[in-house]
Amino acid sequence: MVTQNFIDITKNINTALQKQMNKPSITRSVKVLGVTKNHSTAVIREAITAGITAIGENRIQEALHKYEEMGSSVEWHLIGHLQTNKVRQAVPIFDLIHSVDSERLAVEINKAAGKINKRQNVLIQVNVAGEETKYGVQSKKATALARFINNLENVCLCGLMTIAPFYEQPEEARPVFRELYQVFAELKAENLANARLDCLSMGMTNDYMVAIEEGANLVRIGTGLFGTRNYN
Ligand SMILES: *Cc1c(COP(=O)(O)O)cnc(C)c1O
Repeated sequence: MVTQNFIDITKNINTALQKQMNKPSITRSVKVLGVTKNHSTAVIREAITAGITAIGENRIQEALHKYEEMGSSVEWHLIGHLQTNKVRQAVPIFDLIHSVDSERLAVEINKAAGKINKRQNVLIQVNVAGEETKYGVQSKKATALARFINNLENVCLCGLMTIAPFYEQPEEARPVFRELYQVFAELKAENLANARLDCLSMGMTNDYMVAIEEGANLVRIGTGLFGTRNYN
C-alpha cells in the first residue's frame, strides 16, 4: 500500500513541478518526508522499502524509541514543536529540525550541538497565517531570527517551514505558500555567510501540490502515504 501511495504521490509531484512558476532560488526536485507519528516502526520499514529516505516525527519521546530500533537507516526530521528542556535529547538524533521559532531555542540547540561536536541543521518555522494555535515566528520576524542563527557556530540554517491552516479546498492555502516563498527569497538576498538556504518545507497530504507549485521542495506527508492515524 505504501509503495503504491508513494508512486501516486510521485506522479502528482511531477505534475505540480511542471506548473511551478519560475522559482530561481529553489532546486527543481522535491523530497518527500514520510510522517510516521503515531505509527509503528513496521510502518517506517514499509516506507523505506517503498523508497522513502526521510522520516518526520513530531514528538521527542516517540522519536527516541523509534530511533533506538531503527538507527540511522533513514534520515530523521523533527517537525513538531521543540521545548528547550528536550533539546539535549533531540539534537543527537535529528538530521533536520523544522521547528525553530525563537532565539532561546536556537541558543539551546547551539549549546547541545557543540557538546557533541555536531553542526545541527535547522529550519525556521514561520506562522504565515498568524494562527494563535500554531507555533512559529511571524513572517516579518523571520529575517531577524535568521541573522541571529547565522551567528551560532553549531547551527546551520537550511531554510524555512510552515504549516498552512487546514482548508477543505487546498487552493485556499496558496497565498500562505506564496508568502513563505517570498520570505525565503528575501532571506536568500541577505547572503548570510553561514547559512545554506536550500530547503523550503511546506505542504502536507491535503495541500502539497499547491505548495510545490508555489516553490516547496520538501513536503511532509503522513495520511497520504500511511493512511489515517490512530490516536489512542
Ligand atoms: C502530522 C503532520 C504532517 C502530516 O500531516 P498529513 O496531513 O497526515 O499529511 C505534516 N507536518 C506536520 C508539522 C505535522 O505535524
